[in-house]
Amino acid sequence: MTKRIAIIGAGPSGLAQLRAFQSAQAKGADIPDIVCFEKQSDWGGLWNYTWRTGLDENGEPVHGSMYRYLWSNGPKECLEFADYSFEEHFGKAIASYPPREVLWDYIKGRVEKAGVRDYIRFNTPVRDVVFNDETATFSITVHDHNTDEVYTEEFDYLICASGHFSTPRVPEFEGFQKFGGRILHAHDFRDALEFKDKTVLLIGSSYSAEDVGSQCYKYGAKKLISCYRTNPMGFKWPDNWEEKPNLLRVDTDTAYFADGSSNKIDAIILCTGYLHHFPFLPEALRLKTDNRLWPLDLYKGVVWEDNPQMFYLGMQDQWYTFNMFDAQAWYVRDIIMGRIPLPSKEDMTANSMEWRERELRQETAEEMFTFQGDYILELIEATDYPTFDIEGVRQTFLEWKHHKKENIMTFRDHSYRSLMTGTMSPPHHTPWIDALDDSLEAYLSDTSEVKKAG
Ligand SMILES: Cc1cc2nc3c(=O)[nH]c(=O)nc-3n(C[C@H](O)[C@H](O)[C@H](O)COP(=O)(O)OP(=O)(O)OC[C@H]3O[C@@H](n4cnc5c(N)ncnc54)[C@H](O)[C@@H]3O)c2cc1C
Repeated sequence: MTKRIAIIGAGPSGLAQLRAFQSAQAKGADIPDIVCFEKQSDWGGLWNYTWRTGLDENGEPVHGSMYRYLWSNGPKECLEFADYSFEEHFGKAIASYPPREVLWDYIKGRVEKAGVRDYIRFNTPVRDVVFNDETATFSITVHDHNTDEVYTEEFDYLICASGHFSTPRVPEFEGFQKFGGRILHAHDFRDALEFKDKTVLLIGSSYSAEDVGSQCYKYGAKKLISCYRTNPMGFKWPDNWEEKPNLLRVDTDTAYFADGSSNKIDAIILCTGYLHHFPFLPEALRLKTDNRLWPLDLYKGVVWEDNPQMFYLGMQDQWYTFNMFDAQAWYVRDIIMGRIPLPSKEDMTANSMEWRERELRQETAEEMFTFQGDYILELIEATDYPTFDIEGVRQTFLEWKHHKKENIMTFRDHSYRSLMTGTMSPPHHTPWIDALDDSLEAYLSDTSEVKKAG
């Protein structure tokens, strides 16, 4: 009987899985029955922007953490699909740091070409998963919000691609109960114009703090203060942006810091990260990890060692994104299709531990993206995913780091060469700081005319 596979999530990872199977089918292979359950009404995961916060139209927790005016935070050359270039999608070379809508369009282009939309059941969150030892199948219960029906189906394999940047980690600081302004997590940040002329405190020192703060600066915040627990971000910030050590407490309108200083503030944005959260999974199948390069219990970063009928995609901390999800999806496909044999559980765990030990020795950013590059290379060497120039990606990451250090407000004005087509990307028509309109039309147009946002 044909095996059945369930995929949870139609974001970049789940879509990579659909494309992997379709690619095998296009080469003549028989593929299993596939159903992809997606809780949102459209595909693209985080790249499918929503204005909503809190609960969605179906009463489900809003998945989206992206905001208006978000531009790629790394060069697009580092995330390009090896089987579908930007040039193929847009019919021309485009600049290196596209806004969200442009990247969403690119993600959609590949799966539209592959014709895999019919595998997806939209508006259908997975509620519950049970593994039946006797039949070695998964009973997966979902809620179809299109018909308001809850139903259960049986599957032989489960691939969890539900993402891990949607459930906010929300610490509390002394005085929050009585603070007079708005306190929100970056997950609920949508439009920087809300903070125009305001003094904003950003808590955290990672990508969210850096980018949410940069958005607020670009769209006219009066003053920005970011504070860190261990290390400052250390960029050369504009004059109205200060970095401070840890926040100790707030009162109704003032923040007090560990260095004894204090500042009046209007709003607080918690850029304090996200939790891996799988409320639909039973204990025996649930990945428990912080955001890191090598979560344990996952052989080759994808196979659930305790039950190799279950897989996870995209659960690592992400230097690489889209092409890493592809490398994982092709690898998972080939295990399911019997093309890649799995070793014993002991050997899988021993292999994971070797990666973990290496992970623990990584200190610099360069070491970390080299680590992830080596991991991806190992996966793609085992499948027919097109080999690409990982060393070239590493060099591009290095240049990107250097450009950020040089000037955090201009790094997005640089261009890089595609590692897939060899074409040099053109510069964008407008410096990022002046490009207030982040629409696809504005980005792809040849004019430097700046439309006013809002
Ligand atoms: C603010 C922000 C900015 C980012 N910027 C960049 C960037 O510039 N460049 C970059 O490369 N990466 C960026 N990322 C990283 C991002 O994680 C990846 O690009 C990518 O979206 C991850 O894909 P995914 O499919 O693994 O997860 P997601 O994109 O999160 O998709 C998961 C999907 O699973 C669905 N789902 C979840 N739970 C269920 C359920 N119970 N039932 C059914 N469906 C479910 C969701 O609705 C969603 O569609 C950013 C992330 C964030 C949060």
